[in-house]
Amino acid sequence: MKEVPLFRLLACLTPYRLINLGQVFISLGISRLSGRPVSWGFPLVLTIEPTNRCDLACPQCSTGAGLLRRPRGDLPLALYQHILQQTQRSLLYLLLYDQGEPLLHADYMEMIRLAKTAKVVVTCSSNGQLLADFNKACELASSGLDQIILSVDGLEESSYQIYRQGGRLERVVAAIANLRKAREQLRQKTPRICLQFLVMKHNEHELERVRDTARCWGADRVLIKSVQVRSPQDADWFLPLAEKYRRYTFGSGRLTVKSRKSKICDRLWTGCVVHQDGHVVGCCFDKDESALLGRLSEQSFITIWRGEALRHFRRRVAGSCKPDICNNCTHGLALYQ
Ligand code: SF4
Repeated sequence: MKEVPLFRLLACLTPYRLINLGQVFISLGISRLSGRPVSWGFPLVLTIEPTNRCDLACPQCSTGAGLLRRPRGDLPLALYQHILQQTQRSLLYLLLYDQGEPLLHADYMEMIRLAKTAKVVVTCSSNGQLLADFNKACELASSGLDQIILSVDGLEESSYQIYRQGGRLERVVAAIANLRKAREQLRQKTPRICLQFLVMKHNEHELERVRDTARCWGADRVLIKSVQVRSPQDADWFLPLAEKYRRYTFGSGRLTVKSRKSKICDRLWTGCVVHQDGHVVGCCFDKDESALLGRLSEQSFITIWRGEALRHFRRRVAGSCKPDICNNCTHGLALYQ
């Protein structure tokens, strides 16, 4: 929730949501003090994956590199509505993206509109290629979206295309201009445009120019983020030389995430992730559903949220025998600057 302005979240509070927020954080506090997970309340934050298809081939992304083991597809609008109906009473913040490019979903604008009708703050994260079309940018701005994160990992076409394979920087620059123009025409300040820059070996020399260039293009904010890699070979290829921007330490041929995790992972108290086929997992690091918590085709969301699978997963994460996904987790590490 850190990347969203606090006033936007506060504006969505209702008495029920406020009480629920209190229940969630009190149970989290008790769990931390006692070391024994107890959870009260309902999700404050939800990540929903509209699609796990993508139009680019970014080499360190499971989807882009073709390594995602789940079937590809799109979340049916009816299932999305069903999830929203079951969660909107407590929900404050919706991340309407996970794996894949969310704007490829045919009903994406409608999904945002439905969440905004339910007074939920919505963020989209996109490679921005489709927003080079002004009509699409206008449609997105009209949907009520609060914030968009656009991935721009190079300030020149040559550096950008090393990672965003299949994409063109000029299209993202056009996307920013289109969104600004649409905002002006609609006389509104949203969506706030955040430019996300993954620092890698081939683009770290551009870091000092990022903020000025982003301002020139029309972005409202810059998010500098460290890159995730899968192997020591990839680390050698992609990790920047600047220690500050390396997510990992490297020793004895192994990569170790610099994360300083609390024993109790707050993500499992505040929300969870729904994949495009209605499968529910605990967090976005579980890309291949190694700890599947339930299927919305078989159970209601609330049954899954209150179910033994999630309780068991919380205990595993808090225990000494953590799931594999936690060993490569960066939650708790300051990724954005
Ligand atoms: S990978 Fe583990 S520690 Fe990290 S956010 Fe997920 S559950 Fe929490």
